[in-house]
Amino acid sequence: MATEKNYNNPELEEKLKDRNYYTVDSKKDFSKEVEEISGTISHMCFQCGTCTGSCPSAPRSSYRIRIFMRRAVLGLEEEALTDPDLWLCTTCYSCSDRCPRDIFPTDVIMAMRNLAFRKGIVPRNFLKTVQLIYSTGHGVPNNDVNRAAREKLGLPRDPPTTHSYPEYMDGIRKIIDHFHLKEEADRILSEE
Ligand code: SF4
Ligand code: SF4
Repeated sequence: MATEKNYNNPELEEKLKDRNYYTVDSKKDFSKEVEEISGTISHMCFQCGTCTGSCPSAPRSSYRIRIFMRRAVLGLEEEALTDPDLWLCTTCYSCSDRCPRDIFPTDVIMAMRNLAFRKGIVPRNFLKTVQLIYSTGHGVPNNDVNRAAREKLGLPRDPPTTHSYPEYMDGIRKIIDHFHLKEEADRILSEE
C-alpha cells in the first residue's frame, strides 16, 4: 500500500504489492463523508460479523459487508471504492435489521457507491438506467409487446405515467441535469 517499489513492470508490481496497512492509507475525510452521506454511525462497528452472517451475497461471492465496514472505519478509500464487490449488495437490509450496534451497513454501501460514482467507478447498468429515465421517465419503460398485452387485459396501452403525460418529462430532466447525471452517464459510456 504505502511503500511502492518501481519495478517498471505492472504485472510484477501487482504481484509484489505491499499488502500491509499504514497510517497514511487511512483517509479521515473518507470515513467522515461515508457517515455524512449514509447518516449512520459506522465508527461504532465492533466487527461482530452478524452482518456478513445475514448477507445473501456472501455465501456465493467474495463480498463481505463486515470488511467494507472496517474500510469505512479505517478510511481505506481506494480499497473500498475500487473493489468490484461493492456492487454485489442487494440492499436487502438484513444486516441493518440485525446489527447489535444499530448501524445501517446497507447505507454505508450506498454512500460508498455514491462516492465511487463521483470518481467514475460505476457498472454500466446504472448508467443505462440513467439514460432510460432521462428519455422516458422510467427505468423499465413500456414496449410494444407489453402494450399489446395491456390491450388484451382491457387496459390503456400506456399507464397513467410520463408515458401518457410526457409534459412532465421536463421536470424530471431538470432534476437529473441539476446533478449532471445524464452528462456523466453519456461521457462514461462513450469512453468504453
Ligand atoms: S453487524 Fe454491525 S457491529 Fe457487527 S460487524 Fe456488522 S456493522 Fe459491525
Ligand atoms: S443489505 Fe447488502 S450487505 Fe446487507 S445483508 Fe443485504 S445484501 Fe448483504
